[in-house]
Amino acid sequence: MRATLIYGAGDIRVEDVPDPVLHEPTDALVRVLRSCICGSDLWPYGSRPASEQGDRIGHEFLGVVEDTGADVSGLKAGDVVVAPFVWADNTCDFCREGLQTSCRHGGFWGANGVDGGQGEAVRVPQAQGTLVKLPVGEDSALLPSLLSLSDVFPTGHHCAVTAGVGPRTTVTVIGDGAVGLCAVLAAKRLGAEQIILMGRHQGRTDLGRDFGATDVVAERGEEGVAKVLELTGGDGTHAVLECVGLRPAIETAFAVARSGGTVSRVGAPQYPEVPMGFEEFRRNVTLTGGIAPARAYIEELLPDVLAGEVEPGRVFDTVIGLDEVPAGYRAMADRTALKVLIRP
Ligand SMILES: [Zn+2]
Repeated sequence: MRATLIYGAGDIRVEDVPDPVLHEPTDALVRVLRSCICGSDLWPYGSRPASEQGDRIGHEFLGVVEDTGADVSGLKAGDVVVAPFVWADNTCDFCREGLQTSCRHGGFWGANGVDGGQGEAVRVPQAQGTLVKLPVGEDSALLPSLLSLSDVFPTGHHCAVTAGVGPRTTVTVIGDGAVGLCAVLAAKRLGAEQIILMGRHQGRTDLGRDFGATDVVAERGEEGVAKVLELTGGDGTHAVLECVGLRPAIETAFAVARSGGTVSRVGAPQYPEVPMGFEEFRRNVTLTGGIAPARAYIEELLPDVLAGEVEPGRVFDTVIGLDEVPAGYRAMADRTALKVLIRP
């Protein structure tokens, strides 16, 4: 079969790889219907040292179960399923606490002999705990939004939940990438009354307005902070959802947090230290967030997606085949694509 491998920064190749087979009785084989490229794939794409051997890549996919190991129950060949971006048994103590990203028997796609999602098929470890069955057919028009349950929608939701977003909350979302836009959607869904989206790509912030943003601030740095303060009577917002992961974004986040407010970050931090000092202490600002346990939220978010009440799949603005994946990475790195959907 064909699958995507990364050989180093800027070096993505689609190659023939061995067909996946069941290794463990807890495995399932899934034929991929849809996959996609994540903003976080751009970090290795930008900086991974070159290597002789490629590594499988991709952590968001949905597909059709083709075969299951002897210990997998509740799933059968033909089921359409979505996989969260971390696989997990969904039964250990961390999983029961809703922290499947810390599963004692789980791990990441594309690491330690586990397949990546950007290919024609995937061996899924801990399949019974990892996969969520979707009540749709292979040709459902909802597939893009259902695919977003793999990562970006639950990640935006995790950001909003950990920041305490609810009715009567004011919110600032930093970043107009797919996760930032999903954070807007999640904040709206949770009842936030004011949602200020900080982003400077108008096509994206227009989608953010459709998703529920009440205000858009295109300025960055001190100017951007001043704009948010102006929109909030000088106070900032209760919740700040930092969906970028770069130091200027987290600095802005603290500066626009209201006293007593919460900053949640779900952008994988590309800075070694959090700039949190006396000023944040004086104003009782809390920092929370982290890698999103997508698996914990899929069942909760799924009904709204199936009902069409939310359409997170609108973040996909480019659709490609598997052989075009290297171009898809370039397009996302160049910011000419917001998020790339792959039809293997
Ligand atoms: Zn677990």
